[in-house]
Amino acid sequence: MFEGLQEVVEELEIPATADALREAWRLVDQLTARAREATAEFDALDGPAGEGALSTLSWLRHHTGMDDAAAGRHLKAGRQLRHWPVTAAAARSGDLSASQVEVICAQVPAGAVERWAEHESLMVPTLTGGDVAHTRVAMTRWRQIVDGVDDPKPPTERNDLYLSVLPDGRHRLDGNLDARTGAVVGDAIRAAMRPDLDGEPERTPSRRRADALGEICAFWLASQPSPATARQRPSAHVVIDWDVLTGTARPGTSHWLDGTPISNAAIAQVLCDAQVHRVIVSGASTILDYGRGTKAVPPNLWNVIALRDRHCRFPGCAVPSPRCDAHHVHHWLHGGPTEPTNLALLCERHHTLIHLPGYQMKLLPDSGVEITLPTGRTLTSHPPPLTGGGAGGDGGPGP
Ligand SMILES: [Zn+2]
Ligand SMILES: [Zn+2]
Repeated sequence: MFEGLQEVVEELEIPATADALREAWRLVDQLTARAREATAEFDALDGPAGEGALSTLSWLRHHTGMDDAAAGRHLKAGRQLRHWPVTAAAARSGDLSASQVEVICAQVPAGAVERWAEHESLMVPTLTGGDVAHTRVAMTRWRQIVDGVDDPKPPTERNDLYLSVLPDGRHRLDGNLDARTGAVVGDAIRAAMRPDLDGEPERTPSRRRADALGEICAFWLASQPSPATARQRPSAHVVIDWDVLTGTARPGTSHWLDGTPISNAAIAQVLCDAQVHRVIVSGASTILDYGRGTKAVPPNLWNVIALRDRHCRFPGCAVPSPRCDAHHVHHWLHGGPTEPTNLALLCERHHTLIHLPGYQMKLLPDSGVEITLPTGRTLTSHPPPLTGGGAGGDGGPGP
């Protein structure tokens, strides 16, 4: 359909000069504007449904190789531009860059789409030729004025939360909370924040807040009632190559179900106390067999360990059993038995830590735990007595 254009693009040589680059990027922006508008129209005509896709976003992901964030930005821009002829014309001509259009779309809330349509002929000329920072400032001012007119509620009454997946598989959390919700979230995070124990790597306050939020969420998941066991593990699907699992190949092919690569230490941690399904594949995508889920540590055995350990066995840690994993001291992948003599409770944080290179753990015949740090220092802990007070017999540094 675009043979002529394609030929030109393929033959194109872009000199490394300021003028050529300015022009080339402007052309990219112009083409982006056209593709966004057509995508929004395809969306409005239910085109993706006709192709068997659940949504336009999933269609874009599948057929163009975009990630969620990019697909969302393009589709949102395309949809908004349908309501804004002046902004659309400036995008098409390259007077507004694709990034500027994204800033405009991000700053115009759903309830103010009409407002921008009323104001765009005055605003767009002040934005053309500017950069993204200037556009953001101008749009923030516009939005403050419009918010004041349309919605006399102060912005502190708004509540929203966004959790987006970044291209490297990490997540970004953003949001606005009203005073009451913010106070509840803040109190919970402060209550769940834990100081660094002796032998742990030092964490910044922001790192400790992030860890605390993860623990709060894991605790909520773990507290959900389930008919099989009082302890509901967060479910995670990991695709691991058999040769990696048995140690005859290097990791690199293993990944979470969404394709994010997973490290060796994380594989060992996930498999330590998980529900494992056997999936036999042929080639890259044909599933030949999907086995029933088998718990690495069955609920009855887990209860025995919980009765003995009561809480995380990292010396000084008192996170209670419902928030702990049963760690295989000698991993079952390498022949370690799933028995009380080889299992000990560790909270999420300490379970992650113990699987990192340099950390070692031993379970002694008297159920004492000996942890060797990367520095060579050892720490010990003993389980609380089975009768009487529940306080753990946490030991200090060992010999
Ligand atoms: Zn483990
Ligand atoms: Zn712990």
